[in-house]
This record gives sequence, C-alpha cells and structure tokens, in this order.
Amino acid sequence: MDRFTHYDLQRQDANLSQVFDVAVIGAGSTGAGIALDAASRGLSVVLIDRGDVASATSSSSSRLIHGGLRYLESGEVTLVAEALRERSILQKIAPHLVRPLGFTIPIVSRSRYFAFAKRHLYSATLWGYDLAGSLRSAKAHSVLSTKEVVRNLPLIRQEKLHGGLLYPDSLTDDARLTNSTVLTAHRAYGARVLTYSEVTEVKDKAGTVGLTLRSTLGKPETFEVKAKAVAVAAGVGNQLLSPLFKSQPNFDILPAKGIHLSVPREKLPLNSAAAIDVPSDKRRVFVVPWGRYSYFGTTDTRYDGDLASPDITSEDVAYLLEGLNEVFEADLAPADITGGWSGLRPLVMERGTDNPEEVSRKHAISVRNNVVFVAGGKLTTYRAMATQVTDALCEILGVKAKSQTKRLSLIGSYLPHQESELRRNIDRLLAQATSSTTERIRLGEHLIARYGAEAPKVAEVIVNSWNLHSPDLLEADEIYLGEIQYMTKFEGARTVSDLFLRRSRIATLDMDLAVSLAKASKKEIMRSLSINEAEFNLQVDQMVKAPSTKVPK
Ligand SMILES: Cc1cc2nc3c(=O)[nH]c(=O)nc-3n(C[C@H](O)[C@H](O)[C@H](O)COP(=O)(O)OP(=O)(O)OC[C@H]3O[C@@H](n4cnc5c(N)ncnc54)[C@H](O)[C@@H]3O)c2cc1C
Repeated sequence: MDRFTHYDLQRQDANLSQVFDVAVIGAGSTGAGIALDAASRGLSVVLIDRGDVASATSSSSSRLIHGGLRYLESGEVTLVAEALRERSILQKIAPHLVRPLGFTIPIVSRSRYFAFAKRHLYSATLWGYDLAGSLRSAKAHSVLSTKEVVRNLPLIRQEKLHGGLLYPDSLTDDARLTNSTVLTAHRAYGARVLTYSEVTEVKDKAGTVGLTLRSTLGKPETFEVKAKAVAVAAGVGNQLLSPLFKSQPNFDILPAKGIHLSVPREKLPLNSAAAIDVPSDKRRVFVVPWGRYSYFGTTDTRYDGDLASPDITSEDVAYLLEGLNEVFEADLAPADITGGWSGLRPLVMERGTDNPEEVSRKHAISVRNNVVFVAGGKLTTYRAMATQVTDALCEILGVKAKSQTKRLSLIGSYLPHQESELRRNIDRLLAQATSSTTERIRLGEHLIARYGAEAPKVAEVIVNSWNLHSPDLLEADEIYLGEIQYMTKFEGARTVSDLFLRRSRIATLDMDLAVSLAKASKKEIMRSLSINEAEFNLQVDQMVKAPSTKVPK
C-alpha cells in the first residue's frame, strides 16, 4: 500500500493544530483539483467538505468529458477548445476513468431538403469540433447511413430519419474521478481530507484564516482549522458561504437544475451514446449506455429550492420522457424508470441576464486578500480551473512553484501496454475464489473499470470474503463485499450513500436493486462503517428518500 492509506476521517487523527498553507472548502471536482495542484506544488493542504467527496454537483453531471457541441454552436470557441484540450489531458492522466465513447446524432426531419441542410450544419460544427481537438485525438467524426444509425440506436423512429453523424467524445464516472483526484492529493502528497465537516464561521486574524467546522456525521462537535490562504470552491454553496468572509467575491451564482433518469438497457437498447435534438423543443438530450442501464438527460431550469438536495419533479420526468418518446419507439413511462439524479449547475451570474440558457458556462475567480473564490466552469475543465486558483494561492503565499497536474497520473491510472498484465494478475488472484472463467472475466472487467491499476488490491480483499457472498450479490455484479471494505478503508466512504451512490453508482441507476444489495451486505456494511442496525436502517432510508435521487412515480 502507499504511504498514505487512510483519509484523516477523525479530527484527532489529523494534526489540525498546525497552520496549513492552504485550506480548500468544497471537495467537488474543483476543490479536489485545487487540493491536488496545491499539494503537489509542496504546499500543506487541508480539504474540507460538509458531506462526502463529490456529494453535490460533481456526482450529478451527465458524466461527459467533452467540449460541448452546444457551446460551439453558440460561438464559444475558446471555451470548447479549452475543454477539448482538457479532455485529452484527462484521457492521459486518468485513462481508466475517462474513456472514449462515440455519440450518434440522428438527422430527423420532415423533408429531405431540411435533412440535407441539417446534416451540413452539423457536419460544419463537427469539423470545428474535430479541429479544436484535432491535434489531440486520432479520431474524427463520420457520416452514418440510416441503417448505421438504426444499428447504433435500435429503437430510433425511422419515419423521418435521414441518416446521421458519429463523433468521438469521452465518458467518465464523475464521482470516482473526483475521488481519485482527492486520493492522489492525500496518498501521494499528504493532503488532509475532512469530510462531513461544515464550515460555519470564518475568523480572519493577522494573515491567518480560522475556519470553524461543525461535524455533520456522528457525534456533534465543532473544531477549528487554520490556514494562511483559503480557496472557496463550494459550488452553489458559495452563495451561503461567501457572506461569512470579510470581503465578497465579484460574482454571484445562479443555480440551474438538471436531472437524469435511467431505465434498464433492454427498455432503451443502445449501441452508442447519442446526442438527440428533440423535434418539438430546441433542447438537446444525451442518451448514454451504462452497463445494464441506459440513462438520459438533462434539463436546465432555474432553481430556488433547497440547495443541499434539489428534487426531481413529475414535470421534470414528463418533460424528459416526452422528448425521448418523440425520438425513440420505446414508449417509456414513469414506471420504467429505475433510477435518477438531480444536480445544480453553479453558473456564474452575468449582469443583465438570469436565464440559465443564456448564462455562460465559463468559470470565475475572485481574489480577496488571502481568499480565492472560484465557481462555474465544467467538470471537464476542473484541472485547468484548479491550476489558475493555485497560481493565485501561490502568489498570496509568495511561493514560486509551477503546476504539475498536466502530467500527474491519478491513482488507478495505467498505460495501455500494462493492461494485459493487469488482467493476468487479477485473474490469478480471482482463481483462488472461483474456478469459473466466465465469472473471473466478468469480475475482472468490473474491477478494472472501477479501480484501474488498483484493481488487484481490491481483488485480494474480495477473495478473502468470497464465501460470504449471497447468490444475489454475485449475480448482480455491482458491488462485492470486499469492495465495501476497500471503499471504507481506502476510499473514504463513511455512509451507505457514499457506498451506493458515489463509490459504486448503482443507486443512481436502480435504487431498488441498490437497497436489496445493501440489505444483502448488511453485516459487512455495519462492520466496515462501525454502525449498528438502527443506524444502518436510517442510512438506507436517507439514501432512498433523498430528493435528489427520489424519482416520482
Ligand atoms: C445536470 C448537470 C449536468 C452536467 N454535465 C456535465 C458534463 O457532462 N460534463 C461537464 O464537464 N460538466 C457537467 N456539468 C457541470 C459540472 O458537474 C460542474 O461544473 C462541477 O461538478 C462543479 O463542481 P464544483 O466542485 O465546483 O461544485 P460541487 O461539486 O457542488 O462541489 C462543491 C462542494 O462544496 C461543499 N460545500 C458547500 N458549502 C460548504 C460548507 N459550508 N462547508 C464545507 N463544504 C461545503 C459541497 O458539499 C460540495 O461537495 C453538469 C452539471 C449539471 C448540474
């Protein structure tokens, strides 16, 4: 194991009496990126979140690492070029988490003439997209016949279909990408990580900022962390947090809600992802295959409800289903939906507009004395944003150190030529548990997709508890008992939701299955999380009832 193997989960484990160089508030993708950038420049760092790592927007995205065709269409060329540059960096530093995926654009139109015009318009945009990413990606877009579109999207309505296009982009696991960034900062560079610790008060004294933290899990207690400089990367939480500071940032945040829904793959079979223009609406919907499920989204609506857990409404569900059913002969109904999630885009408010469709997805950074506020941007550009914030932190601290993160591989990454060796190692380990080659191959795939080069370590733990698995757990192939041990011991999971919503993603895709798997692993969960049965039941209930994952039927 690496030098730093545990999160500093209990404050008594961490030496919190020291004055850190940097305190980062918010362990979403932005804060995680800052923690890694700062720690790898040699700064002492404490990363703080009131919930789990990636418990807010960074586990609620569309999971795309992309330039954003829509932004190219609206002329935001530099934004797209930066995102595509970042896409290629992330594919190198986290190849196990940022995987190439083809997107089909079906051309749907009532007339041949409009279909022709549409195809050329898309083609021109995609040439721009290819060019913006050309030096970095070997693949370019291609034109598809109607037959090829149907092969990719078997249930697509064919009456008005006039072929389509296919373009390359990337898919990620947003929560695991964020957690890998945190783990790298922690294990490789010694960053302290305090999850379930909410910043409730800020004291600015003679060049040092004192942050009062309140624990939000377990025994209620408050404690203080001190730092010479602070980065505030609290997403939509910036709105409530910034008034605690002496000086305010020069931007405001407009929360815009987006939801996703998932159905079993057989209800919406997909052989590629797709970017669909809903004919009766100007919006584009992404449809993505994810294991045994297909998910689709998103929406984009102004939101002024509870920032901690934005709800999924029946209107949201109806809107997405109507759009999907217009394009696919899937006849999807609310009863078909097995899971979903809702999140808030922390859009930076530009003066004179409050319509989320018109607000730019660019990020904003505001430096106030020894505090750097950051918000906006995308998951795709988290690393670039983090570099700019850390440059500002270094300037405050008078430190001359350059960012390393462009070439800094995240925990779990491996080179293409190492993959076959990795598979052989895992297979050797799993042979101690099962003689079934099919089972070993399936489990090996599962582990590599989730943990990359860390998979053999997880396989070792799984093998040790193999005989305790119920047939249901083995059949589901979603989460194994050894993974629960590994996720709590080495990946910072502290609650049932951490395990089923973010370290594994099954609760976002199929909540009923997640609950039955949690019950089938109850003993292991109680042991790993050190909780009793009443607390286990409470945590399962909290996961099921959270507005951001509860889909109205
Ligand atoms: C529906 C939707 C789809 C999207 N799809 C994509 C996509 O496909 N690709 C892409 O690149 N981008 C996408 N995005 C954008 C992307 O998800 C966000 O830009 C990114 O995740 C924001 O990360 P963040 O770290 O800034 O915020 P967050 O992830 O929200 O992190 C902020 C953290 O601060 C913590 N916090 C808040 N207040 C406090 C406090 N007082 N004390 C301690 N901690 C606190 C919160 O708990 C939270 O964990 C999407 C966004 C949405 C909503």
